[in-house]
Amino acid sequence: MTLDGLRETHEAIARAARAHGRAPNDVTLIAVSKTMPMERIEPVLASGQFVFGENYVQEADAKWSEVKRRLPGIELHLVGPLQTNKVKQAVALFDAIHSLDRESLAQALAKDMRRQGRRPQLFVQVNTGREPQKAGVMPEEADLFIARCRETHGLTIEGLMCIPPAGEDPVPHFRLLREMAARNAIGLLSMGMSADFEAAIAEGATHVRVGTAIFGARG
Ligand SMILES: *Cc1c(COP(=O)(O)O)cnc(C)c1O
Repeated sequence: MTLDGLRETHEAIARAARAHGRAPNDVTLIAVSKTMPMERIEPVLASGQFVFGENYVQEADAKWSEVKRRLPGIELHLVGPLQTNKVKQAVALFDAIHSLDRESLAQALAKDMRRQGRRPQLFVQVNTGREPQKAGVMPEEADLFIARCRETHGLTIEGLMCIPPAGEDPVPHFRLLREMAARNAIGLLSMGMSADFEAAIAEGATHVRVGTAIFGARG
């Protein structure tokens, strides 16, 4: 593989940021390396990209725990759903979790974060398209859920995350997320993937999650 995809993604992020009066550094590129073997990831890592996203706790642990010990500057984001029985492993491994979407998970995270003395950044995932097969809190429940994460579980909620429905204009979903963040005093917005990260940056994304455009199609 080449690093063209990574370079082009960086350039496109910088262009989109500047076009909307934002600094390119305001946007963190999360290179989503799910299903990619380490030999595909190594060149990206060697080029200076240190922020990666994975979907599955088990896979991420196998691929990254050794590498992270060797290179402590790596920042690992869990962008896929999190099962409660994987919370302990997830808190130990990840620096950010984008898929907080239910009370039982908030409780389990709070407990394990206390126990391990680790504080991964937390994003609440919102199911902006109200899709039954998709994770995330329903939009009308988000404000209450965020308040309960904060008040009942003592969690710091730093961001919101969404995955707009495939084949729909993503912009209304990005706007909904941005408004929700503003009224809850939340600073970070994880939105935008290979197909729509420029539109997400226009709507205020602080974190874009890009896989295919960097690594090519997944097998
Ligand atoms: C796979 C995945 C991505 C990356 O998607 P691409 O279209 O390959 O850029 C981003 N976010 C989540 C939650 C994913 O599961």
